[in-house]
Amino acid sequence: MYDIFIRGIELPLKVKGLTTIDSDGNYNVYINTKLSIATQKKATKHEIRHIELNHFDDFNPVIHNELEANAG
Ligand SMILES: [Zn+2]
Repeated sequence: MYDIFIRGIELPLKVKGLTTIDSDGNYNVYINTKLSIATQKKATKHEIRHIELNHFDDFNPVIHNELEANAG
C-alpha cells in the first residue's frame, strides 16, 4: 500500500498542482499556495483522482486522463 503526502508550495500561477511518485512508491502531491483556498481544494481533489484512477501506471493520452480526473 502506498501513502499520499500532500504539501503546499509556491508554483507558477499556471500550475494548480502536480503529483510525483518517489522511489518508495509513495505519491507526493504539491498544491500551489498562490491560489485561493477553494482552487487549492479543487486541485487537491483533481490530483487524488489521478492517483485513484491509476493514471500514473497507464499509457492513455494525457488529455484523456485530465478529462477523466475532472469528471469526478
Ligand atoms: Zn491533471
